[in-house]
Amino acid sequence: MIEPVDLTPGAAPLIDRFARSITYLRLSVTDRCDLRCTYCMPERMQFLPRAEVLTLEELYLASRAFMARGVRKIRLTGGEPLVRRDMIDLVRALGRHVGTDLDELTLTTNGTRLAQFAEDLAQAGVRRINVSLDTRDAARFAALARRDMLADVLQGIAAARDAGLKVKINTVALKGINEDEIADLVAWAHGEGHELTLIEVMPLGDVEGDRFDHYLPLDGVRRTLEQRWTLVPNAARSGGPARYVDVVETGGRLGFITPLTGNFCAGCNRVRMTATGQLFMCLGGEGQVDLRAALRSPDQEEALNAAFARAMGEKQERHDFAISGPGGVPRLARHMSVTGG
Ligand code: SAM
Ligand code: SF4
Repeated sequence: MIEPVDLTPGAAPLIDRFARSITYLRLSVTDRCDLRCTYCMPERMQFLPRAEVLTLEELYLASRAFMARGVRKIRLTGGEPLVRRDMIDLVRALGRHVGTDLDELTLTTNGTRLAQFAEDLAQAGVRRINVSLDTRDAARFAALARRDMLADVLQGIAAARDAGLKVKINTVALKGINEDEIADLVAWAHGEGHELTLIEVMPLGDVEGDRFDHYLPLDGVRRTLEQRWTLVPNAARSGGPARYVDVVETGGRLGFITPLTGNFCAGCNRVRMTATGQLFMCLGGEGQVDLRAALRSPDQEEALNAAFARAMGEKQERHDFAISGPGGVPRLARHMSVTGG
């Protein structure tokens, strides 16, 4: 069990140069994964050295430092968060603060281990989770994720629902891969009572193929869906970059995350920390601050204050993504699995 830590009183809230309050932390607990989605990482991914990864206690301590400075929502992500050993201890430790220091503790997962953990997550205080699913075709899944694990994921999603967790499906829209299946995925998700959000592929880190080949702008996807369904814009915001519509015929909600065709930066309230304690102020930027050094410093509180002040000074106004042309190099060298999606 991870021992509870009190909040340090009087820490300065996290507010950046553009007067944006940071209230949302995405915490990557590991960069390792049991899948190898082709748009996310190469088959022979070079993972971070284990010795550099923060312990679960340090991840908890860092989370408390964020809470002391106004963070109200934490999303655990990765890599695949549920492959980290004893991860559930961290979920339990953070879950104790839901309803007091935290409004929400949530998780993004590929679902392969959800059947095993859904009940524990619900008991620890998690209410909603995001599960990534790009196809419901077993052969396609095996090709896209380079692992034949669709059945585990579908079982995991069912287990999550049975445990009372609200599930949102995240689907990366990929030209020539799942383009023809998107409407069916939406119909399936809505039929099962899940929201679904579509995501444009982002140029993060080297992978073996060329992402440009599979980049599918969502404005076109939306026009195609409108030929089949009535989409009514919904003003609801999840505190994230998604824009929503209600699908009249299915009765479900559909989100669009369009980092490349739409600007989602103005209301940004988030930062990301890697499993080694590097704080990234923007998924689409290079600026980073070393929180691990601050956490391990003998003068921890002072070092943390200085690190957070530096971070707020560095948070950029908007991301610098652009899909590079065919054969082009990715705009950012970091993989999504390092910073956490
Ligand atoms: N392994 C977990 C999962 O797949 O849900 C959590 C981490 S994963 C990096 C988080 C999300 O990022 C997933 O929905 C995944 O599809 C998405 N993702 C990964 N690489 C991406 C890329 N280059 N562009 C857009 N989305 C990406
Ligand atoms: Fe793993 Fe998630 Fe990346 Fe797929 S998207 S390889 S499941 S981290």
